[in-house]
Amino acid sequence: MNTEIYLDGNATTSVLPAAIAAAADMMGQRFGNPSSTHATGLQAKAVLDQARQRAARLLGSGNGKLMFTSGATEGIQTAMLSSLAALRERQQRGETIGSVLLYGATEHKAVPESLAHWNHLLGLHLPLQKIPVDQDGRHDLAALRALAPQAALVCTMAANNETGVISDLAGIEQVLAETGSNAYWLVDCVQALGKLPLHLSTTRIDYAPFSGHKLYAPKGVGMLYVRAGAPFTPLLMGGGQESGHRSGTENMVGIAALNAVLAALERGDTFRSHAELACFRARLADSLRAALPGVVFNNPFDKALPTTLNFSVPGLSSKELMDVFDAAGVRVSSGSACSAAKAAPSYVLDAMQLPLWRSAGAIRMSFGPLADDNTIAAACARIERCGAALRASCLIPSEHASLPQDGVVQLGVDGACSWLVMDAASRSCVVIDPLPELGGRIESFVRCQNYQVRAIVCSAPDAPRAELARVLGRHFDRHASTDAYGWPSQGQQVALETGALAESMALGRHLLACVRHDDGARSYLLGASARMPAAEVRFAFSGRTGQAGLAELIAPDTMLCPSREASNQFCTSLRALGNPETMADDSGNLDAAGLAAFLQAHPDAQLIDVREPFEFAAAALEPAGRAVLSVPLSKLTSHAGDWLRGERKPLVFFCRSGNRSVKAVQCLRRLGYQPAYNLSGGLALSPLAIAA
Ligand code: PLP
Repeated sequence: MNTEIYLDGNATTSVLPAAIAAAADMMGQRFGNPSSTHATGLQAKAVLDQARQRAARLLGSGNGKLMFTSGATEGIQTAMLSSLAALRERQQRGETIGSVLLYGATEHKAVPESLAHWNHLLGLHLPLQKIPVDQDGRHDLAALRALAPQAALVCTMAANNETGVISDLAGIEQVLAETGSNAYWLVDCVQALGKLPLHLSTTRIDYAPFSGHKLYAPKGVGMLYVRAGAPFTPLLMGGGQESGHRSGTENMVGIAALNAVLAALERGDTFRSHAELACFRARLADSLRAALPGVVFNNPFDKALPTTLNFSVPGLSSKELMDVFDAAGVRVSSGSACSAAKAAPSYVLDAMQLPLWRSAGAIRMSFGPLADDNTIAAACARIERCGAALRASCLIPSEHASLPQDGVVQLGVDGACSWLVMDAASRSCVVIDPLPELGGRIESFVRCQNYQVRAIVCSAPDAPRAELARVLGRHFDRHASTDAYGWPSQGQQVALETGALAESMALGRHLLACVRHDDGARSYLLGASARMPAAEVRFAFSGRTGQAGLAELIAPDTMLCPSREASNQFCTSLRALGNPETMADDSGNLDAAGLAAFLQAHPDAQLIDVREPFEFAAAALEPAGRAVLSVPLSKLTSHAGDWLRGERKPLVFFCRSGNRSVKAVQCLRRLGYQPAYNLSGGLALSPLAIAA
């Protein structure tokens, strides 16, 4: 069962089965060099010629050059080199060439980066200037009109990769004509191939790069159109292939595959019509609206390719959305694929002047013209599942109360964290050391769980608590009297290990004691019984792990929970602090094959998913008869305390990529829990079957 729904077609597509067959045939049967004059070579050359003729017909390239390249980035370099070298020559001859190099504000990075590179390398040193876009993402033609008379080169795109917004190429051409501009014109046609009609030789476009992998051909093959009469300088010199325009033995496997895609395009029997694709987009948009309240679409559907949706959801980061979609097996991307690793706002949406929350939280969902009804139906069902998972985890509003949380929750930012002690039975909790930047998260957590906050306490006096108290509203009694640490006035006395008495507060089955240290700091001890000898202290919350006066009150395996310790992941213990070098070997890493063998050898092993609860809920994992425990990293400390006290059965941690789970394993081994294992590479490399 293929469980992945791939909706990232603007980054790359799968390869058309006919293209795979053509590539295999080229490797197996027609492996000749198209420059060879013997029959084997001629057979390869026939495919090369056929592909070029097809492309020429489809793109309407007329008398222009059409050469095969390694992809659009190479095509763009060739166009930059050609146009800028010609400009330099003309400049050296004393001609007026214009004083600025223009490019659209939403161009793919390949355009401005190569423009700057060749401009510098060729010593032209013309200033680069962006052509602004309007709120729909289309080039601002009035701005272009003002700039065009000074332009030496104009670079625009046919359709945008992040938004699918289709440029008004006829409008741009008209502006260039009306302003008498004699600038060269490059149009990046990567996202247009197979989706927009192109008749290149009837336009004044000088250079048009294409890429095979955006339309079901493999990566590493592309094309460049150069208008008849436009300046041309080869990027690659050598054996004179491609009529001397692009030396190097041709990528015949890629070209054969592209030829099969072009054949399908020409026949018109393989790809969906615009109307069918627009209907698919409408279905996806409807599902997104139903599942994600408040979703806003960042691209105007009537001015964009029907295969691209770009949206943001109030209150959700693009990372959270990416994570939940990925968990549900729906592959989408945040911003453009090249910058998806960084959570930076999208420069494309910024250029459209969208508010920061939309440009930083945007998700692109894109499919190709091969999309089918079943895939769209399955995607809609999974979008619904993502919505349900986010609602259940309180990330988006829900009418239904979520499952009450119990135990210790850690909310962290940049080396500092806040702790919440939750009691499900009484639906109440205590907040320890609230960080101002976490106020919103703590509030929505408490509100969604419908808990009462019994106290907001701190390890240092007069730490900021008032703002959280205010936002908690009816979930916290702001008028109850407390001391400067937030500790409520009346507390029961409890005896500690040293015999000293401390005030305590009952929280369901738990007892929280407040320890006043000589240096003015405070620690909070959490235990289960009415007495608090060291052996009964399960968790100790303090500003720092080395808090003087704390060690004598707790046991070697009490979870030490600091709130201001950048170097400490999650939690530690006196035992872990005493053996700092217990970690750092690879024995805890399992790969996909290793996992199967391990589970067979250890029937008692427990699988633990450390992704967020909404990812767990969206995933519907079915690992062959095994129960999976959901323990997000925010609850690791809570569970670690139980595991250390229980029987030491093997624990196998996993997440999507292995990054989060390896941290959990390191923490447990540091704490002295040796049978902790990590699924290296995560679910991405060892998918535990996802239900359809
Ligand atoms: N231009 C656009 C609009 C693109 O979407 C891409 C690919 O992401 C490129 C250029 C670069 O294409 P290639 O991967 O073939 O170098």
